[in-house]
Amino acid sequence: MPVCDMCGSSGRLVRARIEGSTLSVCEACARFGQVQDAPMPGKAARPRPQQFSVPKEEVVENYAALIKSRREQLSLNQEDFAKMLNEKVSLVHAMESGHHAPPIPLARKLEKLLKIRLVEAEEKEEAKFEHPKGAGFTMGDFLKK
Ligand SMILES: [Zn+2]
Repeated sequence: MPVCDMCGSSGRLVRARIEGSTLSVCEACARFGQVQDAPMPGKAARPRPQQFSVPKEEVVENYAALIKSRREQLSLNQEDFAKMLNEKVSLVHAMESGHHAPPIPLARKLEKLLKIRLVEAEEKEEAKFEHPKGAGFTMGDFLKK
C-alpha cells in the first residue's frame, strides 16, 4: 500500500509538487503544494486526435464480369444462382450487368460460394489481430488472471 510522502498515511494519493519536488501525497497534504495530475473536468485525458484507419472495403470494379463468368462456369442459370444466394433474380441480373454492385455482405457470400475475390480493402490493413477461433479463451480464463 503506497503511503503519503508527507504524513505517511495510506489511501488515495496524488502527485503534487511541494517545495520543488514532486511527491506522492494524500489529498490532505496535496493542499500544501500544487497537484500535478488532478483529473481535469471537461478535458480529455489525451488531447491526441483519434486516428483510426479503418480499411474501407469495396467491391472490385469488374465484379459483373467475375460473377457472370463464374456462374457460367458452374453451369448455373441466373435463376438457380439467385436461389442459391437467396436473392432475387433481378438482383443477380443487375449485378451481372454491372448496374448494381453487391453490398459487402453479399459480396462476401459470393466470394465464398464462387471462390472468387470480390472485395478489396481500399487501405492496406496494417496488422490483423484476429482472435484465433477455438483458442479456448473464455471469460472464465480471463477472470482467473
Ligand atoms: Zn499526507
